[in-house]
Amino acid sequence: MTHLWRCGAGLAVLGFASLACAEFPDKPVTLVVPFSAGGPSDKIARDLAEALRKPLGQTVIIENAAGAGGTVGSAKVARAAPDGYTLLVHHIGMATAPALYRKLSYKVPDDFETLGVINEAPSVLIGKPSLTANNFAELRQWIASNGGKVNLANAGLGSASHLCGLMLQGALKTSMTPVPYKGTAPAMTDLIGGQVDVMCEQATNAVPQIEGKKVKVYGITSLQRLPLAALKDTPTLSEAGLNDFNVQVWHGVYAPRGTPAAVLAKLNAALRAALKDPDLVKREEALGLTVVNDDRLDPGGHRKYLEAEKARWSKVIKDAGEYAD
Ligand code: ASP
Repeated sequence: MTHLWRCGAGLAVLGFASLACAEFPDKPVTLVVPFSAGGPSDKIARDLAEALRKPLGQTVIIENAAGAGGTVGSAKVARAAPDGYTLLVHHIGMATAPALYRKLSYKVPDDFETLGVINEAPSVLIGKPSLTANNFAELRQWIASNGGKVNLANAGLGSASHLCGLMLQGALKTSMTPVPYKGTAPAMTDLIGGQVDVMCEQATNAVPQIEGKKVKVYGITSLQRLPLAALKDTPTLSEAGLNDFNVQVWHGVYAPRGTPAAVLAKLNAALRAALKDPDLVKREEALGLTVVNDDRLDPGGHRKYLEAEKARWSKVIKDAGEYAD
């Protein structure tokens, strides 16, 4: 019998849950990232894995299960054994996939246990280095005159970059050609190389490239400017003329449905401890991320927020007429 069952059954039947559950985790925990290595979700997960090591007393291994805008990795975790040893770190895509995919092999949130929202990640609109546009107004003009020929990179349907691109095309009343990747890490390589033209990307990954002048930056996709040296002169897209343009990415951690309550409590406590780790906070802030420390870090609060985001985005997506089989 596994620790899961001793823990789960111990809780309900024997009443010595804390004794039995003290054994969790007794082997490394896997954190599934549903995007390619080297992208923002991967970076966030790797930093989190490091910070979780101490409170969990175990190594946390990263597994990249990329594809289809994060739905491949999410499906994998939905089907994993509900023992706390396979977790998912995923962004806003968790809330948007149900509206975007007609055939989704998992239900949101029903097939998951929510463990907590961990951060908010602003994004920026960036372009290949050879673009002549030097600000958003010039970029807007260039897009208007090139329309469907403009290649807009994204990390697949339902990814944050895809959603931001959808909103952008809606706000500009134009369509560009979407170019999907398995994550924004490979998309960034192509943007730098000039194979694609523009992309929305989380500041996490964009800031080092902006600092290195490898890409051009045109605007912040959320409503507040970012207090980062590389972005001190960058306006929000809302300020630059797209009224109320607001795409704010957030990440949460999930376990498969049916994970025992005592295991979930232990994971949530470890998450809370990890998010207080000063090294983690410093690293996240340097990349424009805000560590969440409100009631969304509670499993119930996370679930409520996920439901609200799912409702909000499903309207936007339906209005945009986007879906995939
Ligand atoms: N930032 C990506 C997105 O657009 C995902 C990633 O590669 O981390 O959703």
